[in-house]
Amino acid sequence: MLLKNLENKRNMPKATETLLEIDLNALDNNYKYLTSKLKPNTKVLAVVKAFAYGSDSVVIAKELVVLGVDYFAVAYANEGETLRNAKIETPILVLHPLPINFEVIVDRCLEPSIYSRKTLKEFVAFAEEKKQKDYPIHLKFNTGLNRLGFVESDVDFIVETLSKTTTVKVKSAFSHLAASEDLKLKDFTKRQIEDFRKISEELSEKLGYKPLLHCANTSGIINYPEAHFDMVRTGIGLYGFGNDKEENKHLKPVGTLKTVISQIHTVQKNESVGYNRGFIAEKTTMSATLPIGHADGIPRSYGKGKGWVTIHGKKAPILGNVCMDMIMVDVTGIECQEGDEAIVFGPSSTAEELSATINSISYELITAVSQRVKRVVCRN
Ligand SMILES: *Cc1c(COP(=O)(O)O)cnc(C)c1O
Repeated sequence: MLLKNLENKRNMPKATETLLEIDLNALDNNYKYLTSKLKPNTKVLAVVKAFAYGSDSVVIAKELVVLGVDYFAVAYANEGETLRNAKIETPILVLHPLPINFEVIVDRCLEPSIYSRKTLKEFVAFAEEKKQKDYPIHLKFNTGLNRLGFVESDVDFIVETLSKTTTVKVKSAFSHLAASEDLKLKDFTKRQIEDFRKISEELSEKLGYKPLLHCANTSGIINYPEAHFDMVRTGIGLYGFGNDKEENKHLKPVGTLKTVISQIHTVQKNESVGYNRGFIAEKTTMSATLPIGHADGIPRSYGKGKGWVTIHGKKAPILGNVCMDMIMVDVTGIECQEGDEAIVFGPSSTAEELSATINSISYELITAVSQRVKRVVCRN
């Protein structure tokens, strides 16, 4: 919606306000890199939940369609509706539907993940009421994450329920790895993969047909080739992070969060900066005020020097507390002026590095960029 009036630009000019730049060439690079790890017939599901990890799900999905993606996944039904409204016709898996969403799911040809006896019974009844035939559903199995999913002892119930109806058909069966990025937990992950293999084989045999099987997220693609099955589900990798230093060299962050210096103050010794005097100067300090705050996606926990922005290639740490709409950063010793650009995160100062300072992860920082921040699309 926000992008309607903005053309694709090459080589973005310097920011004059807070912007999230979305680099589609980085997305192309990441897609090609991740798919180079797959066997030729393995399908690719792109996870575009949460505004495509804080960017723009419509812009990202349209580019992925051009790249040849097979499937999309969103977390909630309304996110799938947004894609359908943008005329995206690729199949869309809804990872976490609730019964209240069944209406919009069927109405917009979204495909629910069915994860419990209750959701199975309710969705079948709903599909019957709507006179559906072979409506695609996806069965989610819990193999250790203990978040959503059936367990092995549910297989007979599933098969029996489905044998009594022609309204739905199992398009895929899947599971989610709990620790695919953590090689210290390799034994746990291998056990999850084997359990999934076993359950899905039993399911296929009892159903009498073979649904698509999938269980690998980005780190699963990278670390567990044996877990690729028929399809992989990639999210964070598409946006430029591989949960691993070596892998990150091949991936390019899609989002660059930029802002601009609104004002510079000279803060004398013993003066303070920001609410509750969060920073007290021990010496003369140059402070730059930037139009980005916790309402834009910079949590308060980055305040008091934990987080930083990059101005003319130099780190400017956050002074005092993060405000709702602004931060003040230390530009002492950095040659800069009002109107100059500041980078919060991007390809050279990454969301992964910044989030690590508060023991967080790239996922949390990039998905937090609020809808107030203007998005611009470019191909760098
Ligand atoms: C979010 C999500 C993914 C994507 O994981 P990444 O680590 O971002 O690749 C895959 N599968 C499920 C079920 C998810 O919820």
